[in-house]
Amino acid sequence: MDKIQDLLLKTNISNDSEQMFRMKPGRSTEATAKCIYGECDGSGLIYSIKEDGQEIARVCKCREYKKQLRRIKSARIPTDHVDNTIKDFQTEIYKKEESVSIARYAKKVASCYVEQYYEMEDMGKGLYLYSKTKGSGKTRLSIAIINDLIIKHKVKPIYISVVNMLNEMKNSFSNKETNVNSYSLMESFKQAQVLVLDDLGVEKTTEWSEEVLTQIIDERMSYKRPTIITSNIPISLLQQKYPVGRIKSRIEKMTFPVIMPEESIRELLAKQENDKIAEMFFK
Ligand SMILES: [Zn+2]
Repeated sequence: MDKIQDLLLKTNISNDSEQMFRMKPGRSTEATAKCIYGECDGSGLIYSIKEDGQEIARVCKCREYKKQLRRIKSARIPTDHVDNTIKDFQTEIYKKEESVSIARYAKKVASCYVEQYYEMEDMGKGLYLYSKTKGSGKTRLSIAIINDLIIKHKVKPIYISVVNMLNEMKNSFSNKETNVNSYSLMESFKQAQVLVLDDLGVEKTTEWSEEVLTQIIDERMSYKRPTIITSNIPISLLQQKYPVGRIKSRIEKMTFPVIMPEESIRELLAKQENDKIAEMFFK
């Protein structure tokens, strides 16, 4: 007795003609709201059929957008600064005339730094944003710079305040259960393509904290990795803050100094935000 398979083989089943499978030329990926540009189905690929029936795939721009988002996420930029760019850095918000011109100069330096980033990277040059006054825009401008570096040059930076960095290091020693060990934490700060060290000098100096900072700065200098520092201490007085040794001279060599206004705009920015809300409520 023939097996059913053999019988089937003998019956005359023909192949479907190639023609039947040939799809109409044109786009075959549906554009949906899952893509922020409304151009693909969220997969990041747009398939289309050529005249000869061949299927081709193009990369949708939402894929690069998602990559950028990942860079911003791994840069650890505080949420309220995620959208900061140099273009949006307000120089006219300062009340003192002198502050406005200082802020304009700082903004100009920031744009030039981003424009000429590759030369800066070759030289291992970062920036040192200084003003005695808190809330004068140092953090905002330093983050605006790395946001622009992410957008324009696909740089992978890390932002961290010095106090948080030292705390994280300390916790990684004391808490054996965390996945982060102090070694890999230290390496991430040493090796970041660009590192922002925010608020250098507000931490309490100990032999240990100075040693940690020295190691990070030392290695970044040796490998010419740019470091952007903000501080309430002028470079000339760093030796008093870090008496053991090499921090001041290293920073002097690794950074271009940028003076920031001696005027706090924190309250003004908060007021501006509330004025906007009032407008939304009562218009
Ligand atoms: Zn897309």
